[in-house]
Amino acid sequence: MQDWTATVHGEHSEQEVLRVERLLELNHVEYTHIEEKNPDTVRVELTPSGGGQTVIVNGFDLGELTAHLKLNTYTKKDSYDLVVVGSGPAGMSAALNAKTLFGWTTLIVEDNAPGGAAGTALNPINNYLGIPAGTKALDLAHTWMGQINAAGVEWLPGCRATAITQIEDPRKTGTEDSSLYPTYKLAIQRTDGKGPVDLYAGMVLIAAGLKPNRLGCTGEEQYLGRGVYYGTLPTDIARARKERVIGIVGAGDTASVAAILLAEEKAKDPAQRLQVAMFVRGKFGKDTIPGNVDRVREYVDRQFITVHEGTEVFSCLGKDRKLTGVEFGKTGHPESVEPLDLTALYVLTGGVADTQWLQGIGLRIVSDEDVKQRRYRKAGAVITGGIDSKLGSLTTTGVDAIFAAGDVREGAVRRIAAAVGEGGAASLDMNAYLVTDGTWQTAIKEGTALYKYYEATAPRNLGSVAVLGGDALAP
Ligand SMILES: Cc1cc2nc3c(=O)[nH]c(=O)nc-3n(C[C@H](O)[C@H](O)[C@H](O)COP(=O)(O)OP(=O)(O)OC[C@H]3O[C@@H](n4cnc5c(N)ncnc54)[C@H](O)[C@@H]3O)c2cc1C
Repeated sequence: MQDWTATVHGEHSEQEVLRVERLLELNHVEYTHIEEKNPDTVRVELTPSGGGQTVIVNGFDLGELTAHLKLNTYTKKDSYDLVVVGSGPAGMSAALNAKTLFGWTTLIVEDNAPGGAAGTALNPINNYLGIPAGTKALDLAHTWMGQINAAGVEWLPGCRATAITQIEDPRKTGTEDSSLYPTYKLAIQRTDGKGPVDLYAGMVLIAAGLKPNRLGCTGEEQYLGRGVYYGTLPTDIARARKERVIGIVGAGDTASVAAILLAEEKAKDPAQRLQVAMFVRGKFGKDTIPGNVDRVREYVDRQFITVHEGTEVFSCLGKDRKLTGVEFGKTGHPESVEPLDLTALYVLTGGVADTQWLQGIGLRIVSDEDVKQRRYRKAGAVITGGIDSKLGSLTTTGVDAIFAAGDVREGAVRRIAAAVGEGGAASLDMNAYLVTDGTWQTAIKEGTALYKYYEATAPRNLGSVAVLGGDALAP
């Protein structure tokens, strides 16, 4: 991806400015803001970092902006040895290992921004061994991005995998660009609605993490990105200074940290208008670590935060395409609501694995009934390992050539370090899959030279691995 710097011209509080700046921030494009009162449009000046002509883009059209930034172009290849769905730590680590250890042509498809959930953490990352405490999550994600680019992993941002089908006769697809015969076809949709296009993959890694939970209330969709958000970014905190009331739904660590940072911002200058309203379905305090509870309570005492316990938001209200407030009331009682004026509402209530699009290819996915019967913990999660999969390894599923790693997996521990480790493990599981039971004989295209990487991680009793029709035999 080419590096750019951007200048955003528009009124600071304008929702369109906010949308543009969030997009730039999430995609690691440095930007400055130039305040312009009541402009007709939001103007974005994009300058290539390596020199070149500045282009001016209308910020109302995010599609045009992402196209200029080359954030959502289609890949040139028609097939890859490995397609990774999701560019969080699990997907990035798997792609890096796959490419550098085994030389597979590897593509990452990402529907949001590099770094996944880890890239949107407001809190500094203090628990990742070897990374200095205080490291910003976005900086960490940027480093990963640099590593996968340097390794030659291909990267398809702004695109979502929406369907997957098994190829009946891989040898007849006529695909050219991969060493493995394609086993799956993926439908890829651009997040601006364009597409879908088909891509072929010899192996697929599902590293799709968790999709943020939604409120499911009226007005939520309408004001999505225009006041309603499912994650907070560092600039949201700085920007919030000028706001009057900001709402946060949730009472877990993510919600509490966001409330604390906003309150801290307010405390720097008590003349600021900002107030933080937290909407908590039950009692506050049981879903977050004690340190966070204490700090939220401190700011409640100083009247910077109000915790509305036992409440939920029933509707989002707005005007001129902007969120202007919410109606909230006692949990489960939509008949008794009260309005509250707000300029932003952050819904930070955790997430669920979004695996609907994987139905139909035989993957074991945790159902609501599984959870009810306490067989598994998280509905929607992909079941890996154990007797369901041939190899029984951590990231293998019951379906050939499909693997899952990170938060999308049932039993995932939901830590960055764990996701990075699982990504690495996935690449070794894939290699083991290729060399087990002679899979390589049907998986590798004739004349390709993938043999040399296999032996190191092959199960011991396999003997030597040869390249079909290639010019070399492994020892
Ligand atoms: C606010 C916050 C703070 C956190 N702080 C910490 C911390 O301090 N320390 C720590 O260890 N952990 C922390 N975590 C947890 C950690 O971020 C996650 O456990 C980790 O990111 C999981 O990695 P992953 O790769 O499995 O998934 P994710 O990071 O969730 O990445 C998955 C990616 O896949 C994309 N995707 C999903 N579906 C599709 C599709 N169909 N097509 C294309 N792309 C798709 C998503 O948009 C996302 O970008 C935090 C999490 C959050 C939300």
